[in-house]
Amino acid sequence: MHRVHGMRELGFRMIATAATFTQTVSVSDLLASALRDQQNLSAVERYALRHDQGKVPAQARYYSELMPASPPGPGQQYAFEVDLDRCTACKACVVACHNLNGLEETETWRSTGLLVGGTAEAPFQQTVTTACHHCANPACLTGCPVNAYEKDPVTGIVRHLDDQCIGCKYCMLTCPYDVPRFSKFKGIVRKCDMCSNRLAVGEAPACVQACPSQAIRIRTVDLTDVVERSEAGTFLPGAPAPDHTMPTTTYKSSKPMPPNVLPADYHTVRKEDAHLPLVLMLVLTQLSVGTFLWDFLLKLLWGGHVAGVGQSVDSAGALALGLLALAASTAHLGRPVYAFRAIMGLGHSWLSREILAFALYAIAAALYSLTFWAGAWRGWLPEGLCEALTRPDLRGVSFGMTVLFGLLGVYSSVMVYAVTRRPLWRVSITAFKFFSSTLILGLALKLLVSLWALAPHGAEGVLSFLASSGRVMSRVIMVLTVAKLLQELAIFLHLNDTLHSPYRRAAVLMKGTLRRAVLFRFLAAGLGGVAIPGLLLSMGGAPASTLSLVVVSVLVVVGMLALVLGELLERYLFFTTGVTVRMPGGAVP
Ligand code: SF4
Repeated sequence: MHRVHGMRELGFRMIATAATFTQTVSVSDLLASALRDQQNLSAVERYALRHDQGKVPAQARYYSELMPASPPGPGQQYAFEVDLDRCTACKACVVACHNLNGLEETETWRSTGLLVGGTAEAPFQQTVTTACHHCANPACLTGCPVNAYEKDPVTGIVRHLDDQCIGCKYCMLTCPYDVPRFSKFKGIVRKCDMCSNRLAVGEAPACVQACPSQAIRIRTVDLTDVVERSEAGTFLPGAPAPDHTMPTTTYKSSKPMPPNVLPADYHTVRKEDAHLPLVLMLVLTQLSVGTFLWDFLLKLLWGGHVAGVGQSVDSAGALALGLLALAASTAHLGRPVYAFRAIMGLGHSWLSREILAFALYAIAAALYSLTFWAGAWRGWLPEGLCEALTRPDLRGVSFGMTVLFGLLGVYSSVMVYAVTRRPLWRVSITAFKFFSSTLILGLALKLLVSLWALAPHGAEGVLSFLASSGRVMSRVIMVLTVAKLLQELAIFLHLNDTLHSPYRRAAVLMKGTLRRAVLFRFLAAGLGGVAIPGLLLSMGGAPASTLSLVVVSVLVVVGMLALVLGELLERYLFFTTGVTVRMPGGAVP
């Protein structure tokens, strides 16, 4: 009996031990699995967990001092403040900005640069961090044709609205500080928004959080101070002048800077983006407008008998060129399907005005061309429409509108570049370039079409044209071409400038990196604008028996092609030499 009891007890003990063992194993398994789970948590889950536990933001106690305690009041806004004494250009801000904003591999919204100066005995070096300056008068915003920028009325932060952007890249030209960046992948421009979403919940922007030296802060600034500082020209040595956009960033230092401080890359000369679709668009629109303009001027000078020669052909050709130019301009857009938005900024953007003027020009030119061709299409078109289209008053009105909108379009093109304040794109230089191209190319096409239209009349007809109005046309082409080439040559005078001005930089580029383009530009313009018109002049006095229509035709066609090529090269040089002063760059160790 005893023995039976003992066996039972042993049995119970074994069961109890086994249960305890099972329990122990379960708890440790549970712990292990929980730890395993925790290790496998995604970054977002780990962050959420820490946030729920009240441990985030972990560095808040450090950066709370780097942020304003309250939102800006009336007449104030948020701004970056950079303590130059603390900045080491470690690029922690650049990396944090890149990571926290999910930028593409080559995209950077913040960068570092270097200022150098002093003497051999007392050299000076200062690293600088820069991003968008959330200007009081943002040129990116005023230039944008689709209103893709907004300045927050409370914080003053200049935000880019990605959904609205069509990728025209015009803000990249209007911002003097080289801030907006184009993403090829997304087809839009993007830029720093001072991490406004973080600021809204009391967190510091990525760069402020990441800087190990606490060199970047967010400050509230009074706009009157910003204006005064901008008027006084105090911003950063070697940087673009602040009087245009009034940048709000403050760079402070307790160390006095030597008076000769400049960006380390100040003397580096780089050619600018060529913007090839824009090169094509500008030359073709000016050729197209010039043809209609000369129709008008020739009518004023000599009446309809000269202007009217081949008018139906040149108006259709000019219209086709204009439409081709508009198509070329959409190739420049990152998101061409949204091109229709481009007139939204009509109230402030010259780009919107240019687009509207050329759209109206195309409509008027199409109507004007139809007044010539509608008669030939009788039978294809409804009779009533034919009648309406061939009315002389419609031709007169549509012609007037074509010339007017064409000239407004070319003027808007001038202003599109002039407002960027790049010295080589100032109104006087750009207007001379664009309007002289309009006159030269338009007259050359008019000459070509007139000779083509007179060819059926034989050598007599062509000769009499070359001896009268053709002679004047050739002379005008020669004079305008020579004047244009002289203006372009004048830039080389700046090679001897003592200051390393944008003019001198352009001259250095034209003499060095771009010398082939310059050479071909001058050869093409010399051939099409001087040599061939000169030959035509000499032919005007030749006897009819010696005149070969084939030679004349070849000469005029070659001359026209050479002129167009020359103008394309001139416009390529216009963009690539449109250099300007930039924020400090240069090699930072
Ligand atoms: Fe616009 Fe450039 Fe000023 Fe930034 S720095 S607000 S992008 S103009």
